[in-house]
Parts: sequence; structure tokens; C-alpha cells
Amino acid sequence: MWKRRLGAPLSAAALRRTLAAAGRAVVPTHSASQGLRRLAERRAVPPSSDAGTAGFPPLDRRDFLRRSGRSCCSGGAPGGAAPECWNCGAGARETATAPFLVCESCRSVQPVDESVDYFRIFELEKKYEMDVTNLEGKYKAWQKKLHPDLVHSKSEQEKEYAAGQSARVIDAYRTLSKPLTRAIYVLKLEGVNVDEEETVSEPELLTEILEIREAVDEAADSQALKQIQSQMEDKLRHWSNSFASSLCSRKFEDALTCVRRMKYYSRVNEEITKKL
Ligand SMILES: [Zn+2]
Repeated sequence: MWKRRLGAPLSAAALRRTLAAAGRAVVPTHSASQGLRRLAERRAVPPSSDAGTAGFPPLDRRDFLRRSGRSCCSGGAPGGAAPECWNCGAGARETATAPFLVCESCRSVQPVDESVDYFRIFELEKKYEMDVTNLEGKYKAWQKKLHPDLVHSKSEQEKEYAAGQSARVIDAYRTLSKPLTRAIYVLKLEGVNVDEEETVSEPELLTEILEIREAVDEAADSQALKQIQSQMEDKLRHWSNSFASSLCSRKFEDALTCVRRMKYYSRVNEEITKKL
């Protein structure tokens, strides 16, 4: 992964080619430009000045409620019919945040509802900056409710529901527990897709990658590697904060720039962890 993603563009010839091409403007991906266009139509929302919390403006909250209420397998729109248990017919205690994964009356596992986003699975406010310490507890609580042992005597259909819900809870936990994947997910919810295969075209970043790569290769011992890792963590924090600010003021191009950098520093960290 490291060799292909970070090592490959760093050969002198490749670096020259990439640097030469860097003069060109970065063209957003089709899906990203669609999302940005759609978001531009909502620009009436004044950017929040509270960059510290990176909470979304009020309009987005309404969007969230509307989106999360979109009817799917078991979903129902808030204000409309609440979802009902497929087994006993009991209505969900549906609120803006509580998801309906398991029926509170009969404990039956409900079908996966894709309109319930990852934040809502853990009853968290949909915002980038979050305290991940209470995420693990909520994740474990769901896994206990969805554990295969609890549904082994249930119908094949309910076992499928449990397997689907369990897999989705794992995905949600993995996505939200790390800043980079959480940032990419938050942008996706906003209709802005991050191109995972996108190559870096910014000369500044390319030069920096080259320097970091050399520093990692030349690191004499684990202490030197840990020092680089600590620098990467500082950089990750810096760009994570910038991402939060960009998101807060709905500057999605800037947010994408932050994500590109977070991707590289995360990879360096992963590579160093493997070496240590
Ligand atoms: Zn029920």
C-alpha cells in the first residue's frame, strides 16, 4: 500500500511529471461537483462562527431529519407513521436520534434501514468533531443485542436481519472512530464524494511527501520513527481542525483539501506502525 500509494509517485521521473501537471486546476469529481452545485443552492445558510464544535447549521439539521426519516425497510418519516416491528407490530419509540434496530417490546431484530445514518445508530449528533470515548461503549451495547447467540433460536429471516444489522454497526463504528474515515463519511452525507484513487497534484504536498518518505527510510531506530509519527499526529490534528472549520463554514473544496492531507499523514502513520 505504502509503496504503491506513496512510494510510486516519488521516483524522480514520476515526481517531475506530477509536478509539471500540478499547474492544472484540480477538477472535482463528477459526483463532487454535483454535490457542490447542490450545496451552492443552499448558500442562504450563514456559516456558523463556532468553529470549535463544527456543528451543522440549523438548515442541515432539518435536512438530516428529513433524510433520516426516509422510508425504507422499517423506516417511517417523522411526523408520519413511525416504523412498526415486523413481528409484534409495536411502534418504534422513534425520535430524532433513537434508531429502531431492535424492537423494545418483543426484542425482535428489525431489518436494516439504510436511511439510518451511522451517527444515528449510536444516537450521536451528526457532526464531525465528537468524543470517541463513549462510542466504544455504545458499539459494544449494540453488539450484545445483535450477537448471533441471542438469535440462534430465531427464524432464518431474523438471523439475516441480525447479521445485517451487526455488520452495519461494525462499519459505523470503524468509520466514526477515526478522524479520516469520519471526515470522508460526513462529506458523503453532504453529497460530496472523496475520490479514493485521486493522485496528488499539489507541488507543496508532493515535496512534503518526498521529504517524509526520505525521513522514514533514513530513520535510524524506533525512537526516530516515533518522532516522525508524533509529527504526523500533530499534522493530522492540524488538518482535522481545518477540516472542521471548513465544514462548519460549508467550504467543501477546502474540506476536500484537508482530507487529502489527512489521507497521506494517516498512511505514513500506518506505515511507521508496521515498522515499529
Ligand atoms: Zn416487536
